[in-house]
Amino acid sequence: MPADLADVVAEVGREMEAHRGEGRVADYIPALARVDARRFGLAVVTCDGRTAEYGDAWVPFSIQSISKVFTLTLALKRQGEALWTRVGREPSGSRFNSIVQLEAERGVPRNPFINAGAIVVTDVVLDGRGFDAAVADIRDTLRELADAPNLDIDTEVARSEAATGFRNYALANFMRGFDNLKHPVEDVLQTYFNQCALRITCRQLARAGLFLAAEGLDPLSGRRVVSPEHARRINAIMMTCGHYDASGDFAFKVGLPGKSGVGGGILTIVPDQAAIAVWSPGLNDVGNSQVGTLALERLASRMRWSVF
Ligand code: GLN
Repeated sequence: MPADLADVVAEVGREMEAHRGEGRVADYIPALARVDARRFGLAVVTCDGRTAEYGDAWVPFSIQSISKVFTLTLALKRQGEALWTRVGREPSGSRFNSIVQLEAERGVPRNPFINAGAIVVTDVVLDGRGFDAAVADIRDTLRELADAPNLDIDTEVARSEAATGFRNYALANFMRGFDNLKHPVEDVLQTYFNQCALRITCRQLARAGLFLAAEGLDPLSGRRVVSPEHARRINAIMMTCGHYDASGDFAFKVGLPGKSGVGGGILTIVPDQAAIAVWSPGLNDVGNSQVGTLALERLASRMRWSVF
């Protein structure tokens, strides 16, 4: 008999109680360092509208790099395949904020989920409009997908990132030097910092990602978000690049496309079945949620969810 989703979520959640607080909260963004490391939330939304959740599933946290999934969605809709002339789709094997490959590869980042690649994607989202309009579009897209009209940006986190984002400034200026950014660095980065500073709950995040489990069509609202081809590609890049230099390890342990953020969240897609969001702020050495990864490993294994 297939495992019951509600039972498995409750069981995995209870098992995580002993692990609360493990890992290290990101402190290179000062406003993130204040988050309580003992938080743990888990939410699953299925394509047929069932939900299961545990713990702090309704507590908002900083979306951080998980926003890159949604800006990639917007950029693919705007630019289509032409996007791939400006950003690659290979795992980098380097840290999320690394600059090392950019010089040899002439300012074309390895993939859209490392910071350099996400900054190029944000540049595309800015095409033809100002920073305010681009930020509003990203926020409104999330509001609609998450079914959360009040979802908003934590302006303190955005300011904190801008004040300490020296590496992101370096990456953006370097790429601008290779003519791979079309808009002023300041506009691109302000947009990027604001998208990373969106506050979202596990429940909202799982809901927002559900279209990726259903070939680009939101199964609950019936809205087409992206084409099936683009949805496939976004999932493929989540699988190969969603956890930076630990993407192989995540594929090995969890076996599903996923995207992490330094706020401690992870969005994971179970094709044709469900979307999962987990949040636990303590990170492992690579910058991915430590307890979140463990919870996903157990949940996927017990539900027999895997693309392999
Ligand atoms: N806003 C963060 C940064 O640019 C996002 C990084 C992450 O979540 N891995 O450094």
